[in-house]
Amino acid sequence: MLPTGVFYHESFSKRSYLTIGTRLQDFPAAFERLKQYENFRLIECPRVDEKLILQVHDLSLLEGVKRDPLCSTAWHSAGGVVLAGEMVYEGKLRNGFCYIGAGGHHAGRSNFWGYCCFNDVVLSITNLRNKFGMLKFAILDTDAHHGDGTRELLSNDSNTLHFCICGSNYVSKDKTKIDVSYWNLDREGYVNVVKESFCEMAKEFKPDLIYWYFGHDTHVGDYGDIGLTVKEYVKIAKIMKDLAKEICNERLIVVLGGGSVSYIAKESTLAIIEELLKP
Ligand SMILES: [Zn+2]
Ligand SMILES: [Zn+2]
Repeated sequence: MLPTGVFYHESFSKRSYLTIGTRLQDFPAAFERLKQYENFRLIECPRVDEKLILQVHDLSLLEGVKRDPLCSTAWHSAGGVVLAGEMVYEGKLRNGFCYIGAGGHHAGRSNFWGYCCFNDVVLSITNLRNKFGMLKFAILDTDAHHGDGTRELLSNDSNTLHFCICGSNYVSKDKTKIDVSYWNLDREGYVNVVKESFCEMAKEFKPDLIYWYFGHDTHVGDYGDIGLTVKEYVKIAKIMKDLAKEICNERLIVVLGGGSVSYIAKESTLAIIEELLKP
């Protein structure tokens, strides 16, 4: 079995945007639990190339991020997602999980907000297309908040399915941009949206690689609490892993996203990674 890559940089535990440093305070020590798995591979996030940043963002955004001390981890955060995309696509890894210090899905062409600096997933997609041609991607966004930056950057990209579970309902004309509201969904209903709606659409869409923009801000007690727990996250991880196996050679990348409570960060991410590590 190919390894599962876990992308991490020590700066994420020291000066992360989210809660200014404490969310990932248990790392890297918490990785001890994963060392029993032979296929666990810890990879240090490199800095993202600024030429790639300027393919996705305006110079004004890059300059704004440079001026913002809360974005000091942005280069390594995006760099990990870009490298994960390459290694998974090229078959060096089976799948990957990317820790971040600064988020991505609220970063559009020229604006960034909400703990986000560079759009990590769109940078990763752009890099893969630079290297391998016009590939197709599916993104599932289960962070509590709408992925407005990702949506803006991909609005004319019919080769990327962007499926976001947030506070509203929306379907674009070409049916590649979807929002499903979590209002009125209980835990089981939420998991079923992924299992039924997202999986059906992704099977029809046939992406080359799937990104899951995770976010534990949806967890009970975190800042975007919609009542979810680690149990639901693990179910979604299994669904996503099985989907990737069925439609795109297992190519799945999970990106951490929002959330600020350190014990939730530890328990949720380790549980998801353990699911990625299992056969
Ligand atoms: Zn969020
Ligand atoms: Zn949305």
